[in-house]
Amino acid sequence: MSQPGEIVYFEGDFVPSDRARVPISTHAFNYGTGCFEGIRAYWSPRRQELNVIRLREHAERLLRSAKILHLEPPEQLDAARVEAIILELLARNDYHEDVYIRPILYKSGTTIKVTLAGIDSDLCIFTQPFGDYLDIRKGLRVMISAWRRIDDNSIPSRAKPTGAYLNAALASDEARARGFDEAIMLTADGHVSEASSSNLFLVLDGVLVTPQATDDVLVGITRDCVMELARERGWPLEVRRVDRSELLSADEAFLSGTGVQIAPVTMVDGRTVGDGEMGPITSELQRAYLDVVRAEVDDRPEWRTPVGVPEAAAPARRS
Ligand code: PMP
Repeated sequence: MSQPGEIVYFEGDFVPSDRARVPISTHAFNYGTGCFEGIRAYWSPRRQELNVIRLREHAERLLRSAKILHLEPPEQLDAARVEAIILELLARNDYHEDVYIRPILYKSGTTIKVTLAGIDSDLCIFTQPFGDYLDIRKGLRVMISAWRRIDDNSIPSRAKPTGAYLNAALASDEARARGFDEAIMLTADGHVSEASSSNLFLVLDGVLVTPQATDDVLVGITRDCVMELARERGWPLEVRRVDRSELLSADEAFLSGTGVQIAPVTMVDGRTVGDGEMGPITSELQRAYLDVVRAEVDDRPEWRTPVGVPEAAAPARRS
C-alpha cells in the first residue's frame, strides 16, 4: 500500500513520485510556461468518504487556462478525463484525511525559444495531505501591497499561469516581511483586485461586495460558492469596481479561496475592520461553506464528488 501522496500522475501514467522528474531544459521550468489548479478534497469522518470540491469547475478552469496559453496536452483531455484521472489518483493514494490536489499543464518541450505555440505540453498531478492553511478562526491583518496585480493585458489574469505567481509571491513576502499576514493587491489603475492567492469580499452597509472579474481577479471557484450562499440567503450582493477607501472603511472583510477557505480579515493597513472580530456575515458564510465541503450537511451535493475505492485497492481484492 502506498504512502499518502506517493503516487503521482506523470507522462500519462500513475507512478511513484520519485519517478516523476523533468529535465532542467524543460520549457516550463525556464519560462514559467504552465498553468495549474489548486483543488481540495475533504475527508468526511461522518460518511467515511473523501469528497473533491467543485471538481468539474476546476477541471474546466484548467482547460480554459490551457486554451489561453496554448497548452495542448498530448492526449485528448476534456474535463471528464481530467476528473477521472484526479479521482483515480486520489483512490490510488488511499487518503483518509483532507487533501490538496495540484494538476499542472506545462510546456514539457526542451526547445530554447520564447514561444507558446508549437512546444509540446504535458499534464502532471500531485496530491498531498492538507489541513487548514491558515487559522481561519483568527482574523488576518493585511496590507495594501506596493506590488500591483498583474494586468490582464500583460499576463492573462483569468488563467492560472505558473509564472504569474511571482507577482503573488512578491506581494505576500512583502506583507510578511512587514509583519502582516497577507497582501491585498490593487489593479494597475488603483482599484482593489484581490489577495495574493485568494479573492476578497467586503461588507459595506449590509451589502456583500466583491471586485468585478474585469479588475484582474482570478475568477475564484470559492468566490462563486460564497456568492451562491449569499444569494440563497437573499443577501444583497454587488460585483463591481471597489475603491481603496471602501476597503479601509468596510464593516467586515474576508478572503475566499480553495487554500484559505473563508478567512476573516480584521485589520487593513493598521485600521480595524468593524469591531476587530470576525463579523456575523463572514461567520455565517464560513460555517455554511465548511459544513458543505466537509459533508457535515447533505445540502449542495453538486459541490462534492466522492472518491470511490478503486478495484485494485478495494479490500476485497487485497485479502
Ligand atoms: N486568486 C488567485 C490569484 C488564486 O491563486 C486563487 C487560488 N486558486 C484564488 C484567487 C481563489 O480561487 P479559488 O477559489 O478558485 O481557489
